[in-house]
Amino acid sequence: MTAAYVVVPTVAVMVAGAAYIVAALLFILSLAGLSKHDTSRRGVVYGMTGMAIALVATVWLVADDAWGQPGAALGLTLLVVAVLIGGAIGLWRARVVEMTAMPQLIALFHSFVGLAAVLVGWNGAASEFAVSPDLVGIHRAEVFIGVFIGAVTFTGSIVAYLKLSARISSRPLVLPGKNVLNVGALVLFVALTVWYVITPALWLLVVVTVLALALGWHLVASIGGGDMPVVVSMLNSYSGWAAAAAGFLLDNDLLIVTGALVGSSGAYLSYIMCRAMNRSFLSVIAGGFGIEAPRADGEDAQGEHREIDAASAAELLAGASSVVITPGYGMAVAQAQYPVAELAQRLRERGIDVRFGIHPVAGRLPGHMNVLLAEAKVPYDIVLEMDEINDDLASTDVVLVIGANDTVNPAAAEDPGSPIAGMPVLRVWEAANVIVFKRSMASGYAGVPNPLFFRDNAQMLFGDAKARVEDILREL
Ligand code: NDP
Repeated sequence: MTAAYVVVPTVAVMVAGAAYIVAALLFILSLAGLSKHDTSRRGVVYGMTGMAIALVATVWLVADDAWGQPGAALGLTLLVVAVLIGGAIGLWRARVVEMTAMPQLIALFHSFVGLAAVLVGWNGAASEFAVSPDLVGIHRAEVFIGVFIGAVTFTGSIVAYLKLSARISSRPLVLPGKNVLNVGALVLFVALTVWYVITPALWLLVVVTVLALALGWHLVASIGGGDMPVVVSMLNSYSGWAAAAAGFLLDNDLLIVTGALVGSSGAYLSYIMCRAMNRSFLSVIAGGFGIEAPRADGEDAQGEHREIDAASAAELLAGASSVVITPGYGMAVAQAQYPVAELAQRLRERGIDVRFGIHPVAGRLPGHMNVLLAEAKVPYDIVLEMDEINDDLASTDVVLVIGANDTVNPAAAEDPGSPIAGMPVLRVWEAANVIVFKRSMASGYAGVPNPLFFRDNAQMLFGDAKARVEDILREL
């Protein structure tokens, strides 16, 4: 007869289990809340509450488990101090970050998740002795997969951070045989995983860590500036899967659930963005698979451009009956949303039909322009998505391009050889007159020359967008 053992969970285990379910529900409510503008604040509150509950429950669980063991008090003190220091740094960075620097901050946060997953994986390898012999094969596979996803996320996010903060060029790196390199790295990873499950040698773990670090770096370095929005959401997804992998190793259900939520929602967001930008999902996750090397900056810049001053621009606007404003990253840099909102208001008071056309990837964050315009109290009903406004541009008298560049580049629609070919753009060049507000003839984030500046119906209004819009307001 065999004896049956029943493991009775402690109170802490039961309470933490219940707290994890509540936290997971709050995270789901948070995602639902964040999907709409008017419920987004509530979504953030749900997320913060869920995370606070999860942290308290985890610290209690660890305390309950370690209590009475040597060094428990020191371990717990270190844990609480780490949570407080991490929380304080996160709070400080989030409070002082400029809106335009948000994407690189997010990329940096993703890199921490990747690094944490690598460390958890290595720790899992070191504590294999505590795993039941029946499960040791699965444990080794978990270690390997966790380290791999974590390391890809880590270097991929660091490269994204460097590109987004303009510390390195946003141009795609094109190594010879880059697709073969990526596929080869994946095949090698699978072979090494099988090897490690059979023989858990330390050097195999070192090799997979280096391999994944190199792959993450290469995947993101190969992606051009125009595709960076998809990469940011893709890395968000990878960081979720890295957290889920760490959850399996730590036997933490909440980390598995939360990681899977972030992983799947990030993947779905990337898929939606790929469709909106007419990009192949596979080509972006495979690191720009099939994308041609871009031409040198300015190679295709052609013709003479015309300039306009604020007084003539004001005159043109005063005589118009329809005006469309297409803002971009430069409006965020110049913080021009307030004078732009006032300009729209003043023109509307004169009976001019004024609307805004928003490209899905204008700025440096999904919804960046919508947030700025909402901040400046521009009424929602005159803020239209690209698909809603594009067909009306041909019958518009004046389009004001405020600090936008890639999102209004005709090369995307007309030049099949362009690195941004096929990306849907706002067809501003179809309007009777286009005024482009920017400081120079420089190209946009994707580094692609913009033929719009040389069109007969386009005129450049050089200078800081905020200063130039204020000049127009004075002239009106
Ligand atoms: P771009 O980045 O293409 O161009 C912005 C333009 O603003 C520049 O050409 C710059 O020209 C001008 N500018 C900068 N500062 C000022 C200023 N103070 N006053 C006036 N003009 C200024 O902007 P878009 O919004 O059109 O496109 C966004 C790009 O960013 C796309 O390529 C997109 O893929 C990428 N991206 C988007 C993300 C997202 O989620 N939305 C995330 C990551 C990347 P100049 O220097 O001459 O003034």
